[in-house]
Amino acid sequence: PLLINQLAAGEVVTRPSAVVKELLENAIDAHATDIEVRITQGGMGMIEVIDNGVGIHPDDMVMAVTRHATSKVADVAHLHGITTLGFRGEALAATAAVSRLTLTSSHDNTGIGRQLQVAGILGDTPKLIPVVHHRGTTITVKDLYFNVPARRGNLKSIATEFAHIETIVREVALARADVALTLFHDNKKRLSLSINTINNDTENYLPLSRLEQATGLALTEQAIEVAVDLSSLIQQHFGSSNSTHANGGYEDNAGTMQSAKIGGWLWASHDTNHSLPKLIYVNGRLVKEALISNQLRQMAQSAQLAGMGYALYFELPTQWLNVNVHPSKQRIKISPLNNIMAHFSHALRAKLKTLNT
Ligand code: ADP
Ligand code: MG
Repeated sequence: PLLINQLAAGEVVTRPSAVVKELLENAIDAHATDIEVRITQGGMGMIEVIDNGVGIHPDDMVMAVTRHATSKVADVAHLHGITTLGFRGEALAATAAVSRLTLTSSHDNTGIGRQLQVAGILGDTPKLIPVVHHRGTTITVKDLYFNVPARRGNLKSIATEFAHIETIVREVALARADVALTLFHDNKKRLSLSINTINNDTENYLPLSRLEQATGLALTEQAIEVAVDLSSLIQQHFGSSNSTHANGGYEDNAGTMQSAKIGGWLWASHDTNHSLPKLIYVNGRLVKEALISNQLRQMAQSAQLAGMGYALYFELPTQWLNVNVHPSKQRIKISPLNNIMAHFSHALRAKLKTLNT
């Protein structure tokens, strides 16, 4: 199992920021509303993620650091209907295989939790030590790659590794405005975002205030709000019927509400040097989808914009998605993508022209 975990680590735990990403996803899957990230030496000294989520029951703690122990997918057939960020059950095991990992968690409000330590190998009789801990989970990863010298040699400078970590934290901050996030590097506070409540009247997925805080950009003047209704696609796909709801949602045969829309923001920049965030989220997951980003680039070009940044949120029925394409979980297959993008560009072409004035 150690070798297998180290192999998995090669795919999942490619650098400190990849660990941070997995730990943040776990905290969000655990419904945390407040997450603190503490980093030392660009993550090569320590990565610690403290959350106030549901915690882990003592009986499940050993399982949590065991490969393919995921509490999130009942069987493989469910891979189409994934709603959590994690589902492969290998991130914690893979990280523990190449670091000194401490898992501390409490699932109730007694103020008491359990702690489990793994240094590369999980012993035959792992010990759970009672400790003081709030409800939620703390994962501390020290000495990453202490037992994989080749990987350690590939790491870049502290500044570079921390920059990657900061990017990940900002990307999560843009995915979830309803979560407070704090980031420390070598005990200095580098980012502190309180919860930005979503005003249901505006219907946008992300408040402009969070967009500005997470990107560090002043966007009030330039940002264009995106709101594309795809309910006609829902009807095409699920059949039009009287179970279509007033809010554009559609109830499928299993009685699940399905809706399809795109929200978010895009903004122009005349400064081509500045690398603008270009972020595409599908059902809360940051994805790389060349077809979408290419189309956005073309739209920016035909509106004669020097540069365009965006944070776009696609909300799509899970039946349209297949996320189990790659261990990084960033690749996604969207089934009626051409139709979706046709709607998208139709809705935005005219708006984009107004940016170029
Ligand atoms: P996955 O997220 O793909 O299920 P992981 O290896 O990331 O796999 O985590 C294994 C399991 O450990 C999760 O399924 C979850 O049950 C538990 N777990 C990990 N991190 C947390 C956390 N921060 N809060 C609660 N449970 C957690
Ligand atoms: Mg996970």
